[in-house]
Amino acid sequence: MTGKQLLDDCFLHDKDRLRHHEALEILKQRLHCIAETETVPLQDAAERILADTVTAPRNVPLADNSAVDGYAFRNADFEEAGGFFRLEQRIAAGHASNADLGPWAAARIFTGAVMPPGADTVAMQEDCETHQQDGQDFVIVPQGLKTGANRRKAGEDVAEGTTLLNPGQRLRPQDIAAIASTGQADVSVYRKLKVALVSTGDELRRPGDLITLGDVYDSNHFLLRSLCATLPVEIDDLGILKDDADALEEVLSTAAASHDVILTTGGASRGEEDHMLKVLDKIGKRHMWQLAIKPGRPMMFGNIGSCVVLGLPGNPVAAMVCFLLYARPVFSVLGGGAFLEPQAFQVPAAFEVPKKKPDRREFYRAYLKPRPDGSLAAHKFQRDGSGLITGLREADGLIEIPEDVTSIRKGELVSFLPFSGFGLR
Ligand code: AMP
Ligand code: MG
Repeated sequence: MTGKQLLDDCFLHDKDRLRHHEALEILKQRLHCIAETETVPLQDAAERILADTVTAPRNVPLADNSAVDGYAFRNADFEEAGGFFRLEQRIAAGHASNADLGPWAAARIFTGAVMPPGADTVAMQEDCETHQQDGQDFVIVPQGLKTGANRRKAGEDVAEGTTLLNPGQRLRPQDIAAIASTGQADVSVYRKLKVALVSTGDELRRPGDLITLGDVYDSNHFLLRSLCATLPVEIDDLGILKDDADALEEVLSTAAASHDVILTTGGASRGEEDHMLKVLDKIGKRHMWQLAIKPGRPMMFGNIGSCVVLGLPGNPVAAMVCFLLYARPVFSVLGGGAFLEPQAFQVPAAFEVPKKKPDRREFYRAYLKPRPDGSLAAHKFQRDGSGLITGLREADGLIEIPEDVTSIRKGELVSFLPFSGFGLR
């Protein structure tokens, strides 16, 4: 715990709430990798977090080879041959030749085929002419090719013994391609985290169910499930829980015994019908609650036994912002990866904020649009309201406004956090 008074904060001003950077600090300090490792075939390795160093066991490519369809020759022969080479061999990809290239000789060669011993340069077939004289084939090679032109060197992509990837790296398609190119068929990764997903609220119904006045469809379940799809986690849907402390206590304590993380949404504030706080304090430990941010103030982090509890607010906008800012790095760290922090770009604001409350950090839903001169400016979703999924849809990122900023003028630089920096589109 920090020295801050976290428990009795009804009268706390934003100044006294936990700040965003303090919340990140708490998460960084308290969390570490909890996942064991497993070996998976490359076809199942996308988006997994690497547990071992990957070292190239051999050169890629294995041997010098041609980058084009054409004619391989020894560049030092060019002058004496006058560019006129006797055609001696034909080498297709996958069919290496052991025969030395004779003096003033060239080999017909195709893209990817191994260079014959003695050849160091390839002329593209489009630039060459072939002739037959007395039953012998010749090729006329153009002037001016440098030694090594159109030749790929052995190991030029990856040299044997090179470290390709380090533990903790998330495996992207190009990383998996690199591993495959060295011939390695499987890879050691951290196992997926077991995550229990819980929605809370008497008003919630699942899509497909009938609703009556006052009911709300549980969109957060689908929001969070989809956000989790960008991370190596396995979702266990625990459904919708009523606003009932006993029921919540029972479900959370049972879930804690068999999951790495419980991710809840709703019921995290201080209302009479919000029970997350009481239950977490009763059966677990709270490390963080009530942040000086907007949206997302009720964000909660704690543990029940060895299970991490992340209590997201119920408002969809707050739930998504808190997931990206706090839950995503938590999942990554627990699962063997880095504490993921978003990329931020400085972009001029296309909007004004005459008055912003001091002492809290605000996150606006935002998108970039070109100005008449072609440079990009950040636009803010105009309507306030933490329940509007429309703003999340129209946005392609967030604008982050620090605590000490109290107004924003048009053209002033603001931090834009693209959704792509959170692994989204
Ligand atoms: P709460 O955090 O429980 O006070 O909920 C705040 C607001 O978010 C209320 O308007 C809820 O109806 C709404 N809400 C809570 N949970 C969900 C959910 N799973 N899906 C959509 N809206 C929700
Ligand atoms: Mg509620």
